[in-house]
Amino acid sequence: MTLLIDRDKCLACGECAERCILDNIRVQTPPCRAACPVDLNPQQFVTLVALGRTQEAAEAIYARVPFPRLLANLCPAPCQGRCTRRGVDQAVAIHALERFLVEGHQPSADRFAPGPETGERVAVVGAGPAGMTAAVRLRQAGHKVVLFESQGQAGGGVRADLAPELLAAETELLDRLEVDQRLGTRVGGSVSLSELRRDFLAILLAVGSGADLEFAVREGAELDPDGRLKVDPAILSISLEGLFAAGQMLAGVDNPVAAMGSAQRVVEFVDRFVRGQSLKLPPALRAGKVLPAQVDSRRIVELRAQAATGTPDRSAPVPQDELSGEPVARRAADACLRCAEAVDYYDECWYCLPCEVECPTNALILEIPFLVR
Ligand code: SF4
Ligand code: SF4
Repeated sequence: MTLLIDRDKCLACGECAERCILDNIRVQTPPCRAACPVDLNPQQFVTLVALGRTQEAAEAIYARVPFPRLLANLCPAPCQGRCTRRGVDQAVAIHALERFLVEGHQPSADRFAPGPETGERVAVVGAGPAGMTAAVRLRQAGHKVVLFESQGQAGGGVRADLAPELLAAETELLDRLEVDQRLGTRVGGSVSLSELRRDFLAILLAVGSGADLEFAVREGAELDPDGRLKVDPAILSISLEGLFAAGQMLAGVDNPVAAMGSAQRVVEFVDRFVRGQSLKLPPALRAGKVLPAQVDSRRIVELRAQAATGTPDRSAPVPQDELSGEPVARRAADACLRCAEAVDYYDECWYCLPCEVECPTNALILEIPFLVR
């Protein structure tokens, strides 16, 4: 074993795995991340809070999620349902920590810059959380995006749940990325789907649950027995060439954050379609450099025994509604068991050191044999 990992500092961020020139390192996925619809890594931002690096913790969220206020206010926190700490006492207050970070820290002004322009045009129909997220990601991929929304304002179903000033602060990103927003324009009303099919290379439908799909059926789109658009689950395309679907119009997507997650997934396929690439992802892209975390059940039993005798070597979780201020946030973050870590996958090492040098928390130390040193 060559890698020594300080479990209290490892973010399971994968930076070391990316840097290893021998492709020797893999990073595990903590259960909280595996449950997250938008692939946030709670171990990463929670650990950064525990280390007192709250701005970096907030940036880890901002870099992944275009609309963080929506996440901080409306996420049902499936991560907490899977949190290993529940086996000891209760889940880490991941969602309250998210709120603490998003409410108290500003994102950098240039996050989600548009990519090099491809000159291709994509239509997104529906400006709810899924449509908005897809619009941002497609701009990042360099495509021109026209976002059609039947209402006079973006936001879709979350307009009723978010304060207007919070929603306005979120939709500002669409303006900054020059997403062409056609508000008050109903597809199937003042503009038809066949016009969109004529003018755009790809179309992403994100019209929400319970929307009237007659406009798509008239064009030949098929419905499933539940009256939803029939979707290829692997690539989220519908039965018309170049048309894809995202958000709560999909079966099993039942909240705004899951809707944003489905948009992040489908955009990869829309982008490949627009670039004329195969929609079958190569196995290497699908697998990535991740492994499931191996949670040591003996550790849970030990912590449970410690909790019973009142001599814990880790903080007890702070209840969600008691989290306010940085000292309490740090204590709440300290309860995390850091379920995942970087691992020496092939036990193959040239001691070239970029993994150790680039680790953001100095969690990784290479054990260099005396003769190499
Ligand atoms: S060892 Fe460092 S670089 Fe590697 S996953 Fe952990 S924190 Fe990230
Ligand atoms: S203990 Fe920490 S790393 Fe493990 S599931 Fe809970 S928040 Fe995630």
